[in-house]
Amino acid sequence: MSSRRDFLKSAASLAVTTLASGVTLYSMSGEASAANAAKTPRWGLLIDATKCTPDCSACVDACGKAYGWHNESYSPTDEQWIRKVNVKDPESGASFSAPVMCQHCANPPCVDVCPTGASFKRFDGIVLVNRHICIGCRYCMMACPYKARSFVHHGGRGSDEDKREYPRGGHGTVEACNLCVQRIDAGGVPHCVEACQQKGQGAILFGNLNDPESEIAKRVATYRTSRIRDDLGCEPGVHYQGIS
Ligand code: SF4
Ligand code: SF4
Repeated sequence: MSSRRDFLKSAASLAVTTLASGVTLYSMSGEASAANAAKTPRWGLLIDATKCTPDCSACVDACGKAYGWHNESYSPTDEQWIRKVNVKDPESGASFSAPVMCQHCANPPCVDVCPTGASFKRFDGIVLVNRHICIGCRYCMMACPYKARSFVHHGGRGSDEDKREYPRGGHGTVEACNLCVQRIDAGGVPHCVEACQQKGQGAILFGNLNDPESEIAKRVATYRTSRIRDDLGCEPGVHYQGIS
């Protein structure tokens, strides 16, 4: 937490552009860029599948409630930012359950294929969609190997949509997990992380992968962890424990 605050405090050298309420684009240049390179965070998640149970959907429910994409009449064709995946090896019988969301890739194919620049990666590794210039072509959905993006067929759900901490209003555009960027910029943690902790599971850890003193970096360095389809070279920021 302190490293995040320290970084934000030192952000006087950053050019700051507000793309929309709750979405901020930072850019560095010249000497400031070199000086701050070592401090640049890479926000990520470590999901411990050994603590995640198949019947628990606290992370999915919290995300859906916070952003208004989840309701009781949810259908598989509706937008979804995070999903639970249950895997079972038919030979050994070994199984695990874990949430899958946008993996916030360092080399995101969704950004590569976007014809308008709507898909973009922030300096800190968070991959977002600028809904103001997304034309809804869905190239990014086809390019994403993690099936992490959804097309928004409906308008915002509920009358309080405009009061949400991260307004969506993306009818006809593409959406995905934003890593709760507005919370991170305010020094907080993502909704799914908080909900998982409150449920007592503690299966999702958020932190700065670039800070060797952070808990997430220490755990990634210490324990056997993996990333989904690491062979694809997307360099996800989401790491898993207990899935292999
Ligand atoms: Fe893009 Fe998919 Fe990677 Fe997320 S998981 S950054 S949507 S390619
Ligand atoms: Fe870019 Fe939107 Fe097309 Fe995705 S759907 S590739 S974000 S313009």
